[in-house]
Amino acid sequence: MAKKVLIIGGGAYGLAAGTYLAMNGFDTEIYEMHNLPGGVCTCWSRKGYTFDFCIHWLMGSSPGKSLYNVWTELGAVQGRKMIESDIYLKWENREGDTYTIYTDPEKLRQEMYRLGPDDKRIINQFIKGIIAFSKFDIPARKEDESFGLMFKMMGIMPKFIKWGGMAIGKFANKFKSPVLRQFFNDIYGVGAMEETSSLGIFFMLGFMAAKSNGYPVGGSLKFAQAIEATFRKNGGKVFYNHKVDRIIVEDGRAVGIIVNGKEIRGDYVISAADGYTTLNKMLEGKYSHPKYDTAFREWKTFPSLVYVSLGLARKFENMPSSFSFAAKNPLVTEDGKLTVSQVFIRLFNTDDSMAPAGKTASTAMISTFGYEYWVNLKKNDKSKYEAEKKRIADWIIDECERYFGDFKSKVEVVDVATPDTIIRYTGNWHGSYEGWLPTRKSMMTNLPSKLPGLENFYIFGQWSSPGGGLPPAGMGGRKLAQEICKREKIRFTVK
Ligand SMILES: Cc1cc2nc3c(=O)[nH]c(=O)nc-3n(C[C@H](O)[C@H](O)[C@H](O)COP(=O)(O)OP(=O)(O)OC[C@H]3O[C@@H](n4cnc5c(N)ncnc54)[C@H](O)[C@@H]3O)c2cc1C
Repeated sequence: MAKKVLIIGGGAYGLAAGTYLAMNGFDTEIYEMHNLPGGVCTCWSRKGYTFDFCIHWLMGSSPGKSLYNVWTELGAVQGRKMIESDIYLKWENREGDTYTIYTDPEKLRQEMYRLGPDDKRIINQFIKGIIAFSKFDIPARKEDESFGLMFKMMGIMPKFIKWGGMAIGKFANKFKSPVLRQFFNDIYGVGAMEETSSLGIFFMLGFMAAKSNGYPVGGSLKFAQAIEATFRKNGGKVFYNHKVDRIIVEDGRAVGIIVNGKEIRGDYVISAADGYTTLNKMLEGKYSHPKYDTAFREWKTFPSLVYVSLGLARKFENMPSSFSFAAKNPLVTEDGKLTVSQVFIRLFNTDDSMAPAGKTASTAMISTFGYEYWVNLKKNDKSKYEAEKKRIADWIIDECERYFGDFKSKVEVVDVATPDTIIRYTGNWHGSYEGWLPTRKSMMTNLPSKLPGLENFYIFGQWSSPGGGLPPAGMGGRKLAQEICKREKIRFTVK
């Protein structure tokens, strides 16, 4: 009889692992507390507009990179148009200096020379790094490993060590140009510059230069739903509106889960839900690993978000899709603890499926570590919570009116999510949107998927993959399924 695998959480990681296990004949069930697949990889609809939460860039979005093969196996990219933009971001500071981050390295070099004529040495190192990463590939599957790839990997190692070990703040300060220095200090938002590794930028721009780090038309939810469809096609079952309370452990083995007071038994349990909840609630703090203890005690997470979605009754043709510009009047919120002086906004102007004809969906992100403020405000003063959401949306709209023009009068839908919303829908610790920040410390640590003293259990998700993101969901889900196949002496196959 097929062995039964119970997966907690139907986010990208749970879906990917589940799909590969279902392909290999496991009786695989996903228990998801929300009524949709995807977790944070999601969208929501309001009055004809679709607002996207997640995918700004999908590594391996187009052929030529090993990750693309994984997305293909998962059924996530077939028939889906990918937008591989020429411009990643248009940035502007308070003084009106602009910096366009082109995805073509040579264009980017010229743009950086314009801003930092005295910085040619570091600019050339930066561009050289991007070009190297554009040629580099991560072997997402064993089948894609080749002598050539291994050679490239060895070649890029010194860059890995150099940029991986350098905090983005330190990198920023290498520029004499105040504009470039400011940009790189600004890129990840609140207070993370001294710790966040520079490596992520090279991966992102490198894969963009290779035209394999795009946005999937239709957005994040469609991407997740496509994987869910592959999961179901292979016999997997998903139970929505099923919140798992506890993992049942007997004689040091995970043997089931408790959902809505009901006991469900299985041969393996995988938690692809929030890491803190898994260890401290579902496992009641009885099992952990010293590396997780350190991480939850000491590591920095990605922030949470106030997320403003706007439906606009106009088009934004022939314009970039992402902007970051200095606010004329910085926003002060969270009882004075958070000042926001930069507006980061995305226009879904290249994806007609996100808005009614002639209109545009847009989203603006405000990073915050003040999740408690939002949780408490919602609990203790609902009307002030609503008023604060409105005030922030009004601020974004006013700033966009000044920046774009012809904006305010075109707003016909406003939707504001807060850290409280993220916690409510996904349970993510502190409302973090992507788990652990890729710092020098976290990047050097391999968080285990197995916990000492607990058999037949795996923890898998953005909380076990520092830096989070979708690539480790696909690659790691495949690896995890291979590991379980090996234990069960099943030859791993992809259908
Ligand atoms: C704004 C934003 C932008 C991003 N941009 C990108 C990008 O451009 N590129 C990229 O690669 N990545 C991006 N990411 C990151 C990426 O989306 C995440 O790292 C990844 O989707 C996390 O997947 P996960 O399955 O680990 O977690 P989640 O998506 O949080 O899924 C966990 C699931 O578990 C469920 N769950 C929790 N508790 C329980 C319970 N008790 N019982 C049952 N179910 C439970 C939750 O409802 C959720 O569905 C972005 C994320 C956000 C939010």
